[in-house]
Amino acid sequence: MTDFTKFKRTHNCGQLRAENEGEKVILNGWVNSWRDHGGLIFIDLRDRYGITQVVFNPEVLSEDLMKQASKLRYEFVMAASGTVSKRPEGQQNKELPTGDIEVIVDKFEVLSPSKTPPFLVEDDVDASEDLRLRYRYLDLRRPILRDKLLLRHKAAMAAREYLDSQGFVEIETPMLIRSTPEGARDYVVPSRNNRGKFFALPQSPQLFKQILMVAGFDKYFQLARCLRDEDLRSDRQPEHTQIDMEMSFASQEDVWSVAEGVMVHMFKRVLDEQIETPFLRMSYNEAMERFGCDKPDIRYGMEISDVSGIVAGSEFKVFAQTVKNGGKVRAIKYEGGASLSRKEISELETVAKKAGAKGLAYIALTDDGIRSPIAKFLSEGEISSLSELLKLKNGDIAFFAADNFLNTCAVLDSLRRTIANKYNVVMDRKWAFLWIHTFPLFEFNADQNRYDAMHNIVTAPYEEDIHLLDEGFSTGIKPGSPGHPWENIRAYQYDLVLNGTEIASGGIRNHRREIQEKILEAMGISRERADKMFGFLLEALEYGAPPHAGIAPGLDRIIAIMTGSDSIRDVIAFPKTTAAQSLMDQSPSEIDAGQLKELGLKIVDE
Ligand code: ASP
Repeated sequence: MTDFTKFKRTHNCGQLRAENEGEKVILNGWVNSWRDHGGLIFIDLRDRYGITQVVFNPEVLSEDLMKQASKLRYEFVMAASGTVSKRPEGQQNKELPTGDIEVIVDKFEVLSPSKTPPFLVEDDVDASEDLRLRYRYLDLRRPILRDKLLLRHKAAMAAREYLDSQGFVEIETPMLIRSTPEGARDYVVPSRNNRGKFFALPQSPQLFKQILMVAGFDKYFQLARCLRDEDLRSDRQPEHTQIDMEMSFASQEDVWSVAEGVMVHMFKRVLDEQIETPFLRMSYNEAMERFGCDKPDIRYGMEISDVSGIVAGSEFKVFAQTVKNGGKVRAIKYEGGASLSRKEISELETVAKKAGAKGLAYIALTDDGIRSPIAKFLSEGEISSLSELLKLKNGDIAFFAADNFLNTCAVLDSLRRTIANKYNVVMDRKWAFLWIHTFPLFEFNADQNRYDAMHNIVTAPYEEDIHLLDEGFSTGIKPGSPGHPWENIRAYQYDLVLNGTEIASGGIRNHRREIQEKILEAMGISRERADKMFGFLLEALEYGAPPHAGIAPGLDRIIAIMTGSDSIRDVIAFPKTTAAQSLMDQSPSEIDAGQLKELGLKIVDE
């Protein structure tokens, strides 16, 4: 048995420099690589601080030790004691902070051998993501992932530091709660003590943070884990972390100013970037008009123009008919895009179709004239009006979408993002923060023929729109049609967007029970069901609930953007796959018959 204390490290593997020459040191770490140079063995020893070259020299070590050294392999954990020596002239490694020195080993010990790893621990690993997730502990040894987790730690500390400095109190809320109506599907946990009853895992601490406001903690925050049983994408995980906050007696401006402060502090601390405040602001309606989505990337232009007026009387029936039926014809211009090949345009058509378009009409102005499948149906006047409105120059291309307003939004947003990414459209700034505010309170759910909360059922309507809430119950107008009063209720709901990704969502909440109840009623949730689902919050609102508001930035997404990661899986230590499985611990898994029995559960095939 190794007496480990004999080999306790004096330095880490990223620490030694030329000034340490001559010092006796002990290093502990993993074998990153080895090379045998005619009798001399070189090993790169790695830990989370860096890499140091250690040298096994037959002139220093016995034959027996040299033999043992020749058996050191990838990922063995070892201790090496020796003397720091400057590397011979010409053999320095400028890529490594420790590259001027090496350690000439006089003693060493294998602390733990390793099986041959299924992939090499290096940044440009070519193993599949599944294999890396299965052996996540090896994956996390790669400097690229290590650095992301270290950065994440720094960001979390910065958020805590800032909020603490502003008088916020971190309070934990429970993980086992009742199933509440937050929009996504709950993960549920059966209760052994209360057979047939279930806890839900929190989709967010929303109701509890509101109750903390009623309890008088006027500035709350928590780095909270949120669990949602949703279909996953690259920026969604079953578990994600929010920097969850709530404030009493606070206006929208107050919440925005704290959230901006958190961002400024995080970006300064972590990336040494100075972010300007206040952030730009845009209403939901404006964002949809100009960019076709509620999380626009405003680092570049390509804004949408409404050309319905120009083409309303056109010979091109698709356009004319759409406008006649109350729809819109809208367009974006890609400057310099007239040189796109037939194949490239057809790829963009596929993108447009995926977003709901039936085809993709375009007009390109080239040296050889107009290139367009629809130009022959348009009059000269129409083409020149379009060119004028869109400011089309020679070399540009415009893409059109004709449909109801929301569908044109979906198509043009999708095209805009794809073109920007694929063709490296010039970004005019590095970090584009943007507040999107004044969302509609409700969104019509055509499948269920009812109104749902567009974002959050606890969001307060604009005071001056509350009368519309009442009017909606007695209107003769069909639900889902533009004139219905509930279509026009504005909500104190806001999102924070960074470079085209929603990174935070929040709102002013209903602190008056009667308003909250009316909203639930409008959504077809009976008083009885509301009471069952979250009666505890409704009750709390009757015991002196202060006006309150909050927000919850998503930590994973922010870190993914800060580190330029394609997927939030790269910034989470132990993520799940898109099939919501953890390949390392093989969860979810069956539980044994005894556990099922104890819980009173039976698995049945459908
Ligand atoms: N609870 C909300 C969410 O998870 C955030 C908030 O409104 O504070 O989206």
